[in-house]
Amino acid sequence: MPCTRLPLETNNQNWTLHKVGQTYSVSFGLLRGVKKRVPLAIHQANHEAVLDGILAGTHKKGSLKLVQSKKGVWYACISVSWEVPGPSETPRFIGVDRGQNHLAVAVTPEGRALFLSFGWVRHIRRHYAAKRRRLQKAGKHRTLKRLEQKESRTIRHVNHILSKKLVAFAKEHGCGIRMEDLSGIRQSRQRQSTRAQADLNRDFWPYYDLEIKTAYKALGAGVAFEKVPAAYTSKTCRKCGAIGVRNRHRFRCERCGYRGHADHNAGSNLANWLGLSCPVVLEVPQGGVHGTPHQPSTRLGPSWVSEPGPKGLG
Ligand SMILES: [Zn+2]
Repeated sequence: MPCTRLPLETNNQNWTLHKVGQTYSVSFGLLRGVKKRVPLAIHQANHEAVLDGILAGTHKKGSLKLVQSKKGVWYACISVSWEVPGPSETPRFIGVDRGQNHLAVAVTPEGRALFLSFGWVRHIRRHYAAKRRRLQKAGKHRTLKRLEQKESRTIRHVNHILSKKLVAFAKEHGCGIRMEDLSGIRQSRQRQSTRAQADLNRDFWPYYDLEIKTAYKALGAGVAFEKVPAAYTSKTCRKCGAIGVRNRHRFRCERCGYRGHADHNAGSNLANWLGLSCPVVLEVPQGGVHGTPHQPSTRLGPSWVSEPGPKGLG
């Protein structure tokens, strides 16, 4: 067969999926009516469910594309579509803070929290950072690149687990998922040098990756997902709405005396977010902001443009 650099693509009519025992394979037509059947190696467990969906007829197959990686490995890229349940209409959300102290903290509107942290992740990130500096100094760019790829694989794997747990937690409490919109943070710092930018991207992409994975899994599970402006969620007191002091993993409010875990406080603010990106008005409703049920307000355009809460916060 002549060597080609272009991917081989065929539409949904021209390829078939088979399953014999536990082995999946695809067959497709070659030139002059010759048919070829190739077994598939499944490298991600959830792909099996998708392939089974095609076989069962619940999933619709699209085109099949065969691409060869730089290392010479062939990949079958299959596009699949299927119906997912519409996100349940819920006025309740869990707030997810992607904290500095914990990888993620999810808090329900009632204040129940799920702390997700893997001690070893921070450990290996520090380990990688030190190694990276050494390699940079020595000018070993190839080794450096390999190291970065290895690190990113680890983070992707961890985010996969985190997002799964977050969606399960939301579902268990009948909530949607609400995360901080971090794009503003990134833009405001974009004018820095490329080197600093590269470092910043390294710091931020794990958060984006977690967001994408969570949104994707939420969609599949019928769990609502939304992003809200990040301003002040970590500085606001979850009890009274005043601006407090965040110091590492501690949060304290001078106004009402509340003291708590900083990530939990931020997550709780996200969960009880009333549609104000900045708590300008520090008028405290009776009983505090916390505990006020989030009222579904008339939605105007983007989901975060909602009217102020019912208790005269505006
Ligand atoms: Zn307070």
